[in-house]
Amino acid sequence: MRIPTLQLVLLFISLAGLAIAAGCSTPQDGTEDGADAAATTDHVRQQLAKYARHEMSCNLDRLDENQRAVLDELVAAAKVIDGIFFTQVYSRNPEIRDELEAGSGPDNEVLLNFFRINYGPFDRLEEDAPFIGEAAKPKGANFYPEDMTKEEFEAWITEHPGDREAFENTFTVIRREDGALKAIPYSEYYRLDLERAAAHLRRAAELTGNDSLRAFLNSRADAFLSNDYYQSDMDWMDIGDNLIDVTIGPYEVYEDNLFNYKAAFEAFICLRDPVESARLESIKGHLPAMERNLPIPDEYKNFNRGTESPISVVDVAISAGDTRAGVQTLAFNLPNDERVREAKGSKKVMLKNVLRAKYEKIYIPIARVVLEEGLAEQTDFEAFFNHTLLHEVSHGLGPGNLVLDGRETTVAKELKELYSGMEEAKADTLGVYNIQYLVDQGELAPERAEKAYVTFLGGIFRSIRFGVGAAHGKANIMILNYLLEHGGYVYDDATGRFGVNQATVADGFEKLATVLLTLQAEGDYEGATAFIEKYGTVPPTVEQALARLDDVPVDIDPHYELDE
Ligand code: ZN
Repeated sequence: MRIPTLQLVLLFISLAGLAIAAGCSTPQDGTEDGADAAATTDHVRQQLAKYARHEMSCNLDRLDENQRAVLDELVAAAKVIDGIFFTQVYSRNPEIRDELEAGSGPDNEVLLNFFRINYGPFDRLEEDAPFIGEAAKPKGANFYPEDMTKEEFEAWITEHPGDREAFENTFTVIRREDGALKAIPYSEYYRLDLERAAAHLRRAAELTGNDSLRAFLNSRADAFLSNDYYQSDMDWMDIGDNLIDVTIGPYEVYEDNLFNYKAAFEAFICLRDPVESARLESIKGHLPAMERNLPIPDEYKNFNRGTESPISVVDVAISAGDTRAGVQTLAFNLPNDERVREAKGSKKVMLKNVLRAKYEKIYIPIARVVLEEGLAEQTDFEAFFNHTLLHEVSHGLGPGNLVLDGRETTVAKELKELYSGMEEAKADTLGVYNIQYLVDQGELAPERAEKAYVTFLGGIFRSIRFGVGAAHGKANIMILNYLLEHGGYVYDDATGRFGVNQATVADGFEKLATVLLTLQAEGDYEGATAFIEKYGTVPPTVEQALARLDDVPVDIDPHYELDE
């Protein structure tokens, strides 16, 4: 799974965009052709500007000669995977790309660039509105026959119950032959490409000196050709300490908007960050103390949490396929196979250089507009990153399993549809609260706390920019409203900007942590409802600040040294 934050950003972005792309193909007469085409390109130009081009940093000098050879094979495999995803999105993609590449002129370049970002002629920021031609994107992308309806698919399964497993399988495409629907395994349908990708993985396996990585690369190569991914997902969980971090295969099902059955191919070829990974280990050592330090009575604390999923911090050397299209992933949690999650848990991978790119290209411009004069300069990437890290760690703190009036239950069950928003608010609040704790323990330098409060305030506006309907945006607006009311964060009427009262802000976050954790510990659905009603809407002051962010990019367009 991608980490929810990103899903929300995606959702908000698609809600924010209204499809107004003007069609440019097959106009009624020649005179309108030129005007339509110009209007389309203007619109595409505007949309393209929402992605800030960014040269991604990833220090490859850390690799020795042998590791570099392994990396090169993995990059070659990733590029094959990228090509598969390109055809999974839309059947006409290769043809449209060839036409664009054959054309010339500045307009053509704009279209080609936007086509490259979107992996097809559909604008991912505007609910897949077409920007080349007028044909709508098939809901099932290219996983099903384009004219197949849900009803036809379901009727087929009703009439042929033996086909259900293959039809709903994550790793098959559906095609129609002589009027009959048919499921074809990826291993057959993408055979030539998967054989090439498998060969690269096998060569990388021969080269690597790491046994657990070798086991994964070989079993994943087998999976490409057998269509059975179970063993290789298990092996992926077992990969030990290694500088190169590889994730490659068919994973997420978001591209299939018809049923969410079919997985899209993607790859993350990354280098592990040894400094951050070590820091994370030391933070984990503080987890029991952090639980003790929560501002709630001891009987509400939770000292029996199971082991949480491991977190690793990496820099992306190159990404490919599904994850490269449109808005960029900040972090992911895989594998998705429940059998593997049950046996081995899952792994959370945070993409540090992607976070850095978003910090520079999106966060900073937002902070300059909404924070009091001079405050944006006090934020820094370290504070932004620390909070992201401690947000994830803090999901593992506080009430989880509950006993209410002798009844065994969980916070999630008691808070129902309010849970995700309340849980994100808790993780965000404790993310800040625990930075203060680490400062108090001498683990972090004193200025880290001050910077955390300022940097988090700017981040709130990044999160709520496209709405507060879902968990993460809701969490952020609740925190802002609570801190504005109880002290800590302040609003300046004269400038329309927001600031921090460093004298009261630590206290404000502690109070809020107490409120949120108590609602969770008591499974207090009514209390949570009242809290969300009181704090969960965007006040006019914030609305006005958000209105000033129109020119800030929505996401980055990453360029990697290894792209060429
Ligand atoms: Zn979270």
